[in-house]
Amino acid sequence: MDLAVESALRVAIMDWVRERAEANGGFLHRHELLGYRIGDRDLPLIDYSRGIRNPADFSSTLSIVSVANGPYDDVEADDGLLHYAYRKGDPWTGDNRKLREAMTSGQPLILFRKEVANYYTPVMPVYVVDDYPEERSFIIALDEAFRFMGDVRDLAEPQRAYALRLAKQRLHQPAFRTRVLLAYDTRCAVCTLRHGSLLDAAHIVPDGNDDPPGLPTTPNGLALCKIHHAAYDQNMLGVSPDYRVAINRELLDEVDGPMLRHGLQEMHGRALTVPARGADRPDRERLAWRWGRFAG
Ligand SMILES: [Zn+2]
Repeated sequence: MDLAVESALRVAIMDWVRERAEANGGFLHRHELLGYRIGDRDLPLIDYSRGIRNPADFSSTLSIVSVANGPYDDVEADDGLLHYAYRKGDPWTGDNRKLREAMTSGQPLILFRKEVANYYTPVMPVYVVDDYPEERSFIIALDEAFRFMGDVRDLAEPQRAYALRLAKQRLHQPAFRTRVLLAYDTRCAVCTLRHGSLLDAAHIVPDGNDDPPGLPTTPNGLALCKIHHAAYDQNMLGVSPDYRVAINRELLDEVDGPMLRHGLQEMHGRALTVPARGADRPDRERLAWRWGRFAG
């Protein structure tokens, strides 16, 4: 395929993935990725059985899949870059050749983080920026600029800080949202609104807090619609350790339109809707810590 045609196709694919993910709440189901069609062509965006998708007529790789284990996944390293091991077999042919070609041509690819069975968080565009044959791995970055920074194993401090910041914004936060939304069956824990595009993952102990740590894990998260997320962050709305919603006194006394009345005041005293799986439910100690902030 002509490289210009292939590039245009990649742009169209990424636009579609972005739109679908946004509508769902930041993720796509395996069926959506396998069933993708463009024009009259079937073009699955992930491979049926392997963690790499190399369409036969593409010069370079279209997507790779990484499997999440806990807060971080199998390809992420603590330098903020992705260390992607060579595919089995000859390092110079097949899948490995197409990854190397992505590095040479600078074509963007999609990383699909598989958070739980059948659900994928897209991270894109990502770029193959380096190749270490002696370690049998490619280095994948979240910004094309890393292609031009020399040996990425030896980055200057500002570039390292940038890589870590990007990883947090574009890998860890989206992955946290996916895990939390799926745990809550894509519903707001306060009002049960079911539109993924209107839902966020809120931290119970805020991101960046040291003690207790504000980790991006499901027991430190709540799926909340945009308005309840903002109200929670502003301590207008609280969640007690026994999973009750509370609205602060000032807001309860206020008189205003239907959003205040139905959207906030009527939530006072409601039971929180929690995940079916016990391990995904909000941690009561963290809720108690945060409740102290609200009630205080
Ligand atoms: Zn809500």
